[in-house]
Amino acid sequence: MKEIYTLSDLQSWNRVAQKAAPPIRLGVLGDPIAHSFSPRMQNAALRASKIKMAYGAFQIAQDDLQDALESLRKQDFVGVNLTIPHKIPALELMDDVDENARSVGAVNTIKIENGKLRGFNTDGKGFARAIREEFAVDLRDLRVLVLGAGGAARAIALQCAKENCERLVIANRDLEKARELTEGLRHFFAGPKVLGPVARLQAIAWEETAFRFQIGNLDLVVNATSLGLHRSDAAPIPARLLAPHLMIYDTIYASGPTAFVSAAIEAGARTGNGLSMLLHQGALAFEIWFGRAAPLDAMRKALL
Ligand code: NDP
Repeated sequence: MKEIYTLSDLQSWNRVAQKAAPPIRLGVLGDPIAHSFSPRMQNAALRASKIKMAYGAFQIAQDDLQDALESLRKQDFVGVNLTIPHKIPALELMDDVDENARSVGAVNTIKIENGKLRGFNTDGKGFARAIREEFAVDLRDLRVLVLGAGGAARAIALQCAKENCERLVIANRDLEKARELTEGLRHFFAGPKVLGPVARLQAIAWEETAFRFQIGNLDLVVNATSLGLHRSDAAPIPARLLAPHLMIYDTIYASGPTAFVSAAIEAGARTGNGLSMLLHQGALAFEIWFGRAAPLDAMRKALL
């Protein structure tokens, strides 16, 4: 089995795949893809479940997604995961999209059945399970600030809204995108809950003064931006604003703590990192492909 396959491998898959045992019938498509932990986690799940298949990594450029999916459709793949930059463009390339993926506007899991591509999104539910595991709380009880308005932030914000969180604030560098996201969620917040002077649903500017004003009325802050992917990235919220009452969740899973997580620990806040979300979104994908519970312990062990 090669560490990374390409579009041209997929296009001559019968010849390439002959060499792989067990056969590769699942995988993740992305660009870049070398950093992905999914192959290691999903191969551990397949082994633990005694399913004689393997999960590969596919380096697929943004413009090649359609060709890659057309090749997959003709092979006996069970399904694939999608990561940056494919989640949003994939929506238009599916034969069928489930309600949640349609509402998020992004697909992270595809199931292939009789040559048909069915799109799902497990990021939001995976996030909710991660928060329960990390902090032993439900989103329903929380006042949440989501940083970002891209694919991950959209899945997370929708999940918070669906679970009837107390309060949802969205901050994004491009404020217009944060506004669009909150407007799309407004119907979830039309109920009678009253929170005094602060709004239950709000988009705010990416500015220290705006963050400072919010901190006292928040329980959970989620970094769903790509800030932190590089070691030199600063924390999205200045360390001086963080306080011990906060739970800080960084969706980024780097080899060491991100600047955000380090600053939060320093401030006495509770923290969690993206490995738990990766685990649970992956377990939910496994359940979609195989219709049975994922072996969480084996998957967790593979990640650690
Ligand atoms: P997108 O490209 O869709 O969105 C990126 C977001 O990051 C945008 O909101 C963008 O803001 C913001 N951003 C980028 N650079 C900066 C910056 N320098 N300062 C402030 N904001 C910035 O990516 P995704 O939503 O798919 O992924 C976002 C993060 O979530 C990634 O780091 C990814 O690793 C993580 N993730 C983790 C998962 C897990 O299982 N743990 C699952 C999915 C994602 P703007 O709109 O202004 O450009």
